[in-house]
Formats: sequence, structure tokens, C-alpha cells
Amino acid sequence: MKQLLLLSLLGIALNSFAQTDKELAENTVDSNIVKGHIYFLADDLLMGRETGTPGNKIAASYLANMLRSYGAKPNPETNTYYQPFELVETTAPEVEFSANDKTYSEVMPINANNLDLSGKAIYLDYGSDTELKKADLQGKIVIFKGGTSDGQAPRSVYRRGMEKAEILKEKGAAGMVEFVSIDSQTWSSIAHSFHKSVRFTEDSTAHSEFLQLWVNDSLPPKFEKGKQVDFRISATGKKEKKLATQNVVGYMEGTDPELKNEYIIYSAHYDHVGIGRPNAEGDSIYNGARDNAIGTTAVLSMAENIGNYPTKRSALFILFTGEEKGLLGSQYYVKHPIIPLEKMVYCFNTDGGGYNNTELATIIGLERTTAAKHIKNGAETFGLRAIDDPAKEQGLFDRSDNVSFAKMGIPAPTYSTGFDAFDAEIFKYYHQPSDEANSLDYQYLLKFYQGYVYSGRLIANDAETPFWVQGDKYEEAGKKLYHMPAALKD
Ligand SMILES: [Zn+2]
Repeated sequence: MKQLLLLSLLGIALNSFAQTDKELAENTVDSNIVKGHIYFLADDLLMGRETGTPGNKIAASYLANMLRSYGAKPNPETNTYYQPFELVETTAPEVEFSANDKTYSEVMPINANNLDLSGKAIYLDYGSDTELKKADLQGKIVIFKGGTSDGQAPRSVYRRGMEKAEILKEKGAAGMVEFVSIDSQTWSSIAHSFHKSVRFTEDSTAHSEFLQLWVNDSLPPKFEKGKQVDFRISATGKKEKKLATQNVVGYMEGTDPELKNEYIIYSAHYDHVGIGRPNAEGDSIYNGARDNAIGTTAVLSMAENIGNYPTKRSALFILFTGEEKGLLGSQYYVKHPIIPLEKMVYCFNTDGGGYNNTELATIIGLERTTAAKHIKNGAETFGLRAIDDPAKEQGLFDRSDNVSFAKMGIPAPTYSTGFDAFDAEIFKYYHQPSDEANSLDYQYLLKFYQGYVYSGRLIANDAETPFWVQGDKYEEAGKKLYHMPAALKD
């Protein structure tokens, strides 16, 4: 009797002390723990966590062991918290180009092997599709003006150049040279990004023989359209190197007998851009505190929280490598998922390019999924207003790892620190050596993390499964992935 009474008293007591999701988010996110993660991940020791470097591996080890300490289960394929894979890094050659006896000093290899070529090229001005399809280009080098008569911005030159390259390859041309006119600062930053490139080992290199160059000259070329040009191209010093790297993964099962078959992914990339050009103070280590020690720490906070207080749905934690090399870690993951993708009902990604407004959480793709209400509630409960992408022209939805999942059909927004524009305050730190742990507002970050954890719990415990809003670009992909019956298809 006594015991029963005690048990029932205890039962009542336990019930009345059961914490709400809000309290669980509030109580488990700790400012000092958060600082510990960020200061470690952004330490100079890790040399900017560039994919394939020892600093990247040290970061991965730290994250793997945090997941271990929270009780996550390892990758069943490796029985570790890693998903290892290999990439190939190419260092572009130095290229010299001359045409009709004039030598040009600013030449960028968009795609070039080591070679020494000379002979007659053909000049086709901007070159329309119709002109290109008509011309005999077999084995030829074609010289163009970059872009179109009404678009010479680097981005449009690049896009149009890729279209021309496709036609030229079909016609059996040997390569193309485009004359562009780009200011020296933009030129050097583009040259920097083409200097090294990284791809998957298994990616086909079928077209790598096709030569593609940009020549920067403030004056438009004075060749005659349709006429031959004497040219010489020499490219030397191209190198390839293998990079070993790894995603970090771990999962936790949900508590609900039905909902545990559905997983919420909590993800962030942990790599950054490594060592680069020094700033005025001589600092050359790009520590990436904002980009993306902040996001990585959001995932750790979630894992710690769910480790202590499991949600109804299961949780998969993924920390990506290779994001800065072109979203490679997330692309690799969706091709090699450790648990079938159709069990993943949501990807709550977090990536931080920086912030300029500490009253906000900016969620790229907020209004694109039916979980928007939970994310707004999550952020607002901790004093932050949730807004959608304020800089749509930047194409941010397609520039972080969430898009790898969205393309597969999984609803996937990116939760980011508050910004209301891509302005000078953002660029002060974005991909700069100044992006350091001691430059962050930790009072703000506490709210940011509590908002993330609370939002995640609301999504993971909701009886209703989240999905794309009607008419979204990825809605069809989602219906296909989840094998939705025809009756649900509109
Ligand atoms: Zn970045």
C-alpha cells in the first residue's frame, strides 16, 4: 500500500515536473558550452578547416566525439562517426596567350591541361548559337568576345561561355578563348577561385581535353569576324592531388512507435576555406567562426538536447565537409545515405554567412515548407523574429547544403543568423581572416540556438509530417521520394 501510494505520488510529481519543449530548449542550451565549441572550431590550430587538411580532420574528430558523448549511434557502415570519401584537387596551370603577335598578360584557365599550341584560330565575335552550329569548327580554337552584346557581367559571361562550350564540344572544336573586360579586383578574386578546384574522384573527366580560357583586356579585340587569327597558347604547371576527407554522422532513435520511422536531419557544414591572403594585420587564417562554426554548434546543441530528451521522430545529425568546394559533402551524402532518404522527412540545415541584425533569425526557404509555423514560433519564443531570405538575388537557397536534399525532394530550409541585407557589415567577416570566435555576440547566439533547438523539437514532435508548400519547385521531387499516392498529388 505504502509503496503504491508513494509510486502514485511520484507519478503525479513527475507529471507536473515534465518539462515542455520550450523549457527543454531553454535549459539545455548553455552559453559556456556554445562558446567552448565555437572557440575550439575557430582556433588557429585548425588552420581554417579546409577540406582534406589536418585541421579539417581535427574538427571532424572533435565533432565525432561530441556525438559519441551525447549518445548518438554511429554510421552502421563504418561503425564510426565518419563517412569517409576521396576527392581530387586540381591546381590550374599558368597560361600564356598571344594573338596576332600581341601577348596578353591576364589569362585565366577556365579549363586547361598542360600544353603548347600554336596555329590559326577563328574569331567569331559573340557567336550566336545559329552561327556556331553552321560553322566548321572541327579541331579548331575559336576566339570570342565574352558574354553577349547586352551582357558582359562575369556571371553572364561564364553562363554564356558554358553554353558555347557545349556546342563547340559537339562540333569537335579543340577549345575556345573569350575576351573579357573585368576590373582587377574582381578578376583576381575569380582567378583565385579557378586556381584550385575540387571534384569527386569518380566524376567523369570526358571533356577535360577541351580548352577554355578567359583573356582580360580593357579593349575589345580588333579581329575581323569570321577571319583567322595567329595564336599561341602555352600552359604549364597543372597538378592533381588526392584529398581524403569525411562527413561526420550519427543518429538517435525516436520514442514514438510510429513516428520513429521518420527522421529529421540536423545538418551544417564544418569545413571552411583554410589559409589565404593575409589581411592588413597579417592574419592569413580564415577561422570561419560564423561560417560555419556557428551552424556546426547548432547541430551539436540539438544533439546534446535530443541525447538527453529524445523526440518522437528519430534524429540524424550530419556535419558536412567540402561545402566550400561546391557542396561536395552533402552531394556525396545524398548519393550514399546511411539510412534510406525516403525516411528523411525534413532537413533542418544551418549555415552562417554572418549577421547584421541581432533581432532576427534569417531562414532561407522559411515559407517554402509547412514547418514555417514551428520555426517562427521557435525563434519568436526566444525573442527573435524569423524572416525569409532578404537577398533573393544572391540565390542563397541554392548555395548551401540544404539544396542537395531539396533536389531529392526532402523539405530543407537553412536556418541562419539574422541578416536583412547582404551589406558591408556582412562582408566585413564573410570569408575573411577577421571571422574569429572573439568577434561574436554570444548573448545573441544563445537565443539563436535556443530558437533552433526549440524549432527542431516542435517539428520532431508534431503529429503532422512536414512537407513542401503547394507549388514549390521541389514539391514534385518530394511526392516522388515519398511515393505519395495519386490521390495526394494535388
Ligand atoms: Zn562559406
